Amino acid sequence: MKRVLFLTVLSLLALMSYAQDNKITDEILANGRFLELSSKLSKSEENWLVETDTLNINVLLAPESFLKKSKIVINEKTEYALTGYLYKDNFLLFTLKDGKNNFILRDENGNPQWDETVNSANYRVIPDKCIGCRICINKCPVNAITLVNNKAVIDTEKCIKCGICDSVCPVDAIKKPGEK
Ligand code: SF4
Ligand code: SF4
Repeated sequence: MKRVLFLTVLSLLALMSYAQDNKITDEILANGRFLELSSKLSKSEENWLVETDTLNINVLLAPESFLKKSKIVINEKTEYALTGYLYKDNFLLFTLKDGKNNFILRDENGNPQWDETVNSANYRVIPDKCIGCRICINKCPVNAITLVNNKAVIDTEKCIKCGICDSVCPVDAIKKPGEK
């Protein structure tokens, strides 16, 4: 009996620590952190959102062409297991799991599973060059840039193609649309 009680308490503690680990706090929003979440996704205009009790978080998915090729169709009624990097109000999705499939959008370093040079209509970051200085993040007028594992990532849905990030980057890590 004592052993059962002990194991129950242990399981409860493990569950509590899991919940705490994955709770979205102001500290996580401000500094960024890799998180696992279980949630439905909802569409608002062009953006997909994770809705919590107090926040709407913008989900950075993948280009439409990649979603189509990988047969990823988001259903607002499905509860997904999500992993990704949360920073400010952006959740950069790494993996998306429903009852049947586990889709990998980005590897553990945040590198996309699609060739970004193909989608050359957008500004993009060359991860190997980026030194994570955050200058572009602070200058972007529409909050379209997130730092993931110390590398800048541009949300092409939010980007208005003003070119400011490209002009301020001290190491030429940002490429213009069409630039190789
Ligand atoms: S081009 Fe402008 S809007 Fe787009 S990411 Fe760079 S600074 Fe932000
Ligand atoms: S300004 Fe350049 S080096 Fe600095 S975070 Fe942005 S892309 Fe990276």
